[in-house]
Amino acid sequence: MQLFTFKGGIHPPHRKKQTENMPATKAKPPGVVYIPLLQHIGAPCVPVVSKGEYVKVGQKIGEAQGFVSIPVHSSVSGTVQALKEMPLQGGTKVLCVVIENDFKDELHESVVPKGDLTGLSREELVGIIKEAGIAGMGGAAFPTHVKLSPPEEKNVDVVVLNGAECEPYLTADHRLMLETPEDVIEGARAIMKALGISKAYIGIEDNKKDVLKGMTGEIMPDEDINIVLLKTKYPQGAEKQLIYACTGRMVPSGGLPMDVGVVVNNVATAAQIARTIKTGMPSIERITTVTGGAVNSPQNLIVRIGTLYSELIEECGGFKEEPAKVISGGPMMGLAQSSVQIPVTKGTSGILCLTKAEAKIPESENCIRCGRCFTVCPVNLQPLYISAHSLKYDYKKAEEYKAMDCIECGSCSFICPSKRPLLQSIRVAKREIIASRRKQNR
Ligand code: SF4
Ligand code: SF4
Repeated sequence: MQLFTFKGGIHPPHRKKQTENMPATKAKPPGVVYIPLLQHIGAPCVPVVSKGEYVKVGQKIGEAQGFVSIPVHSSVSGTVQALKEMPLQGGTKVLCVVIENDFKDELHESVVPKGDLTGLSREELVGIIKEAGIAGMGGAAFPTHVKLSPPEEKNVDVVVLNGAECEPYLTADHRLMLETPEDVIEGARAIMKALGISKAYIGIEDNKKDVLKGMTGEIMPDEDINIVLLKTKYPQGAEKQLIYACTGRMVPSGGLPMDVGVVVNNVATAAQIARTIKTGMPSIERITTVTGGAVNSPQNLIVRIGTLYSELIEECGGFKEEPAKVISGGPMMGLAQSSVQIPVTKGTSGILCLTKAEAKIPESENCIRCGRCFTVCPVNLQPLYISAHSLKYDYKKAEEYKAMDCIECGSCSFICPSKRPLLQSIRVAKREIIASRRKQNR
């Protein structure tokens, strides 16, 4: 089978061995869940339950506010203990519904199958996806119904499902595709129907060849669903790089996938859509990889939204040694955490606990002008110059060097032999450019 890819990129050590051959298992139901009312990009939802109220599994506990917003549902049955603010992965405090689990798993009356896909209209599908609170499960957490409602002038004709999972350590999507290929393919069908299109690509890196048989076996002979085997390379799962590898289309600088007729969704998002149609269950759980050298028994766990990281780490045998760093997501694009007392959200693909040796960042030295950061940048930027301007606080110049096109993949920092703080300084430049644009628009 031919391998497809993009220009640039890096080959970090995979470190997936610890969990890739272990079936995803249900995590122990937590005694208390902390369900954030904002788990997606967009407006937070407002609580529709109050302290002391009894709630059931799948019951709506937060109502969406506006188009770019989705509701939130309870992942357990039990009593609402409190509504209180808690810090999330990004560090910002978000209002959470705290529910004491009664371990009865009483199902809410609204959780009923939505019928056969063939009998559902496009509008009904988009409505079901919104009401189920489905957001991108690859980490970005963009409300899925918004992606499936492109403006009329955008001629979307292709959906690309992201099954690359190119971040080291993470294997949650791998296990999902291996264990429930039927949900991924049925989800692809649902997305195609919601968009009124008939063509789909599913991009999978060639270090997951074991999923091919199951996935292809689910595709009907007359369907235009294509599995694309991708070169194992980071950041193969980045949106623009994935689109190019699968379709040959190039998203222009500052453009969106739909500008070239494409909508991208994660394979886990597609599988969630299929499960919601089949069972009526909204988005209340996900597979999360709990791993890293500091954890005793790394695993892929099927986790209820709102479970604390600390409980999942305990379920994996606790810490082998004090972790030097805990990251939400993968090591390349994930966010370092200051505490493990934070809840799992719909976008939590991994909890990575690194030892001192794994987390060690060498001292930065002077640039030797080797040009490696240029050659690996998947968007053809010149990281060295953007970074140098940023470090001199010259954000205007950094903007001229297209800092805003940086997808923050970290490939340049990874490859730099002098360990220059390339990504960190580019991030600062982007933040400053955005702030100055906002000021100008006031
Ligand atoms: S400049 Fe940005 S996009 Fe290019 S390699 Fe560095 S982090 Fe990735
Ligand atoms: S990779 Fe590092 S040392 Fe080489 S040119 Fe880029 S910043 Fe300089």
